[in-house]
Order: sequence, then structure tokens, then C-alpha cells
Amino acid sequence: MTPTPPWHCFRPRNRHPRRVTVTSVAVEPPDVTSTHTCTCGATLRYRQDMVREQSGVYPTWKCKDCLTPVPSTVAERIKHQDPS
Ligand SMILES: [Zn+2]
Repeated sequence: MTPTPPWHCFRPRNRHPRRVTVTSVAVEPPDVTSTHTCTCGATLRYRQDMVREQSGVYPTWKCKDCLTPVPSTVAERIKHQDPS
């Protein structure tokens, strides 16, 4: 005959089982947009993020926040991108 344990010993285990959180790996869609992180920390993604300065034959694209020139190869891609 098994004696009934005192109540203070009656602690059912796994009352709060460890919750297993399945963290799915974030699968991001392929990034089709080109972005450029400026030295000031701004992310340039659209042409609106840049200002164009016509100097000589080719325009120079600059960060609209700090006016740091954006590399032309990057600016060429970004200037075709529009948030719409
Ligand atoms: Zn900048």
C-alpha cells in the first residue's frame, strides 16, 4: 500500500513543459533591388534617395543626406528603381 505523499511534495513534473519554439529560417525573396549603404549609414535604394548633380558630361549621383558621391555603377542601377 503506497502512502499518499504530503501535498508539499506533490509537484507534478512537466507541468510547464519547455516550449519548443520552431524558429523557421527566414527565407527572403531574392533581392532584386540594388541598394547602396552610404558612409553616413543611409540606405540608398531608389532614385529619390539620391540627388543628381550635373557636372560635365556625366551626372554625379550623391546621397541626398550627406552628398557623398555614389559610385556610378551603383547609381546607374539605383536610379532606375522606384518605390512605386
Ligand atoms: Zn549619405
